[in-house]
Amino acid sequence: MGAALTVEWLNASKGTAAYRRVLALRTELEVLRVELDKPFRGIEWETAERPTAKSAAHLRRMNEFTKRHNQLNVLLGKYSFKKALAYNLADRRWWLTDIANGPRGPQIEIENEFGVPSIRVTEAWVAAALASLAASRELSKVRLCDNCRARWLVSIRPTMDRFCSEECRKHFYTHSDAYRNGTGKRHNKKQACDAHQSMLFWPTHAPQSHHYGGGVTMTRRDFSTKRVS
Ligand SMILES: [Zn+2]
Repeated sequence: MGAALTVEWLNASKGTAAYRRVLALRTELEVLRVELDKPFRGIEWETAERPTAKSAAHLRRMNEFTKRHNQLNVLLGKYSFKKALAYNLADRRWWLTDIANGPRGPQIEIENEFGVPSIRVTEAWVAAALASLAASRELSKVRLCDNCRARWLVSIRPTMDRFCSEECRKHFYTHSDAYRNGTGKRHNKKQACDAHQSMLFWPTHAPQSHHYGGGVTMTRRDFSTKRVS
């Protein structure tokens, strides 16, 4: 669900300062995740303070990683959350979740099937979702369309879920060399969306009437969202 709602928020927040902050965070998460996935070798020391010539580059890389990782946590630390228990009546489930404190910037509201607001997605919510996806090596689930490079989509199958729409899929293959040479593979578009009924009873923020109205309403097959600020 994190990926689907993150995509909704990104597409609804383009052009805002919040969008740029989240994009920078996503880029940093991606770079650091790639770095963490490469092995860090042990450092050999020539003296107590000086590594061997062979280890010097490794030490620099470790120090650079540590520094950037600390900066990343400073960035994440700017978002503040409060704990809340969410529940689902259908499967009698409870789980602990985080809600942003004093949310600012663009927000989208997710409505359940009865049109009742059930979750508010904020910049802080998206930042936490991206960090969580990065931690579980799933950041690539939130990606830009390979054709228009303007809209975000949920990509469950990396080689197949690459386009934001049927139009983009067609345009890409019509204009690609592989397609013209007759070697292009057919790809089925999947508007992947893993948000569903389990989110019907998420706790919402206290009503904030000044956030309502003037938003953009978007619809999806199994949930709807409304830009509320
Ligand atoms: Zn597209």
